[in-house]
Amino acid sequence: MPSIGNQGVYEDAAKIIRSAGAIIIAAGAGMGVDSGLPDFRGVDGFWRAYPSYQPLGIRFEELANPRHFHDDPTLAWGFYGHRLSLYRQTSPHRGFAILLAWATQRNVECFVVTSNVDGHFQKAGFPRDGIHEVHGSIHHLQCLEPCSSQIWPNEEDVPVDPETMRATRMPRCPRCGGIARPNILMFGDWAWLSARSDRQSVRLAHFLDGHRSISQAILEIGAGTAVATIRYFSERLAASSRARIIRINPRESEIERPHLALSTSALNALEKIDALLRAGSLGLVWGIRPCLTVVRP
Ligand SMILES: [Zn+2]
Repeated sequence: MPSIGNQGVYEDAAKIIRSAGAIIIAAGAGMGVDSGLPDFRGVDGFWRAYPSYQPLGIRFEELANPRHFHDDPTLAWGFYGHRLSLYRQTSPHRGFAILLAWATQRNVECFVVTSNVDGHFQKAGFPRDGIHEVHGSIHHLQCLEPCSSQIWPNEEDVPVDPETMRATRMPRCPRCGGIARPNILMFGDWAWLSARSDRQSVRLAHFLDGHRSISQAILEIGAGTAVATIRYFSERLAASSRARIIRINPRESEIERPHLALSTSALNALEKIDALLRAGSLGLVWGIRPCLTVVRP
């Protein structure tokens, strides 16, 4: 049972959601954990998810490096091909549907900013023009070199030998015939083509400009401090606007008032807030106006 103090924080979170004119969902790797996806937290967490790399002593930060696509492409595509299949086969947990319902059933607009490359917000039904994937997407490809600025949807199967974790077939660049790679920003990556993510960023900027004068709620979910892109984003946005942050994180939720810290998983927090909203204890009036209208540049 949650303590009275905890319950008060959830009620405060529900009040913020209820009064928000716009919701910004800022999601990190922890968002996918309740779907059953690994978050690669620490070297032990990575090796638990991918035990075959432990005997080789390969860490996530080393594997997620474009040099492997040049030096040992079947190893690199073994890792990304496995993740591609995993993300395709996994269904987003119910927390995604809760968030989408808040956005579509209430008189509020929202935008998603995520460092996740799994495409699960799109899979859960969020409009594609209301999402900024700051680190790119595994569902898009680019040339490894690259020989052009082309970014294209990844509709290929990348079979992986489970014994060796090496890809047995790899995507190719349709222009030069060389190896293609995921359009994901990796560590030490100077060749990532950012144009697709940049276009999303422009749409986000227009959204924020259009909602600057109304109260904004930032739902920061599962964003850690190791790769702090999402935390920087939410803290910077809160500092320059009237936005309140609701930080949902089971281990690193510390944040000062007036922002809120919920030290639990994404799904648990969202279900508790949703129950309060549904209970009507806060006088919530549910509307039917479809939203997520995004101002196009
Ligand atoms: Zn090429």
